[in-house]
Amino acid sequence: MKISVIGTGYVGLVTGGCLAQIGHEVLCTDNDASKIGILNDGGLPIYEPGLEKIIDQARRDRRLRFSANPADATQGDVIFICVGTPPLSNGDADLSAIDHVARTIATESTSPKLVVEKSTVPARTGEELKRALSVYGRKSNLKFRVASNPEFLREGTAVDDFLHPDRIVVGAEDEQTEKQMKDIYRPVLERSFTCPFHAPSACPADLQPSWIVTTINSAELIKHASNSFLALKISYANMVSDLAEALGADIKEVMQAVGLDPRIGSRFLNPGLGFGGFCLPKDLQAFVHLAERSGVDFTMLREVERVNKKRINRFIEKTRQALWVIKGKQVGVLGVAFKANTDDVRFSPAVDLIEHLLAEGARVCAYDPEAMERARAVLPQIEYKKSAYDAAEDSEALLIATEWDEFRKLDWDRIRDVMARPLIIDGRNLLSPAEIKAHGFEYYCFGRPNLATASWHENGVLSK
Ligand code: NAD
Repeated sequence: MKISVIGTGYVGLVTGGCLAQIGHEVLCTDNDASKIGILNDGGLPIYEPGLEKIIDQARRDRRLRFSANPADATQGDVIFICVGTPPLSNGDADLSAIDHVARTIATESTSPKLVVEKSTVPARTGEELKRALSVYGRKSNLKFRVASNPEFLREGTAVDDFLHPDRIVVGAEDEQTEKQMKDIYRPVLERSFTCPFHAPSACPADLQPSWIVTTINSAELIKHASNSFLALKISYANMVSDLAEALGADIKEVMQAVGLDPRIGSRFLNPGLGFGGFCLPKDLQAFVHLAERSGVDFTMLREVERVNKKRINRFIEKTRQALWVIKGKQVGVLGVAFKANTDDVRFSPAVDLIEHLLAEGARVCAYDPEAMERARAVLPQIEYKKSAYDAAEDSEALLIATEWDEFRKLDWDRIRDVMARPLIIDGRNLLSPAEIKAHGFEYYCFGRPNLATASWHENGVLSK
């Protein structure tokens, strides 16, 4: 099928690359000419594991092209809208890019289109999109159908998530749309594409996604309800973590057992610096606003937001407790990306943390395996180091802000020897307290007893 994608960010580029990988002819467009320039020169404007491989293959097979003119998207029979929906200052989703794109599609099309919302939007946006397409396209009299197809991929595992989703949700209003969407996703549903992860074997049978067809309003609501629930889980885990800390329990032990209940599930129960990124914080805010406008009092989600915002303060408090005085001290920060395996620093708790440290008068040296370039654009005032060891050198504390696997495997004796003081404050509960203590560090984390005052036996059991 001839498919166009508008918006070649984290979602659009993965969508375009994966749709080409499963056999479609895809044109990706973006109004940011510099991104398209990088793509047309054979590069990638973002870091996403596995993406380079499939995009290179699709380029070679001539199944994937790029254009800096979004109007070219009207060459496709189906157009996926993947533009950003950032938060407005009042927390609502900014839908101006969707509106802009609708206008372009309506005025530039010369044949009927199926327009698919993949961007995350509040419920009822599909109705507005349909109206915009018919108003701006009134001169051509073309038929535009609209579908909602919310995206659940996670940065860091986006290609895998797209090709092996647990569910594909399609909001459709007619059978033709439903059938067209199923034809697009058939190779994923039947696991009949050449998989970059499993070829030459077929993808395992347990990776069969559920195919869910709903109304457009329901599909839009599913995305916001899912993300808000994930945010709620994280804030809940953080509150239990604070309680565990106060009561001398170990949050890892607690959440491991809690998560074994299939009604709860073990994921998103890790305490720490809280959630960030381009999805959870903004989607939560937009969802609360949507609820309020719809006359539904969703104060519970406001509390989820409030708990999350306070995580940084709590971490700074731990830092202050450990360092006594923060002002004038050099602090190393490991990780700037909002999570591991991405270069994305949008709404990153690590960025927030660094801003707080600077406000307290600390000198910050940071290192991130992939996000330094993007970090420099938002935090030009700190020092960026080439490695975790360089960030640790002469620092009075090393703060772990992103859960990169690389940080689990550092040579801790080397880190200890280059630091001004062997102190680690772990915002992601990444390290084993017993092991790090054995290397001679003072260690603070979330939801477990601090190792400044307590000591651990070699088998990891705390002695009082
Ligand atoms: P992004 O900022 O990385 O990409 C958006 C792209 O759209 C940019 O390249 C931008 O230049 C382009 N764009 C903006 N206005 C345009 C216009 N008028 N014409 C053409 N191009 C335009 O954003 P993203 O992370 O890819 O997210 C896109 C959408 O998908 C958002 O609604 C987001 O909430 C949702 N989403 C994101 C993720 C994620 O993990 N990033 C996951 C699921 C859903």
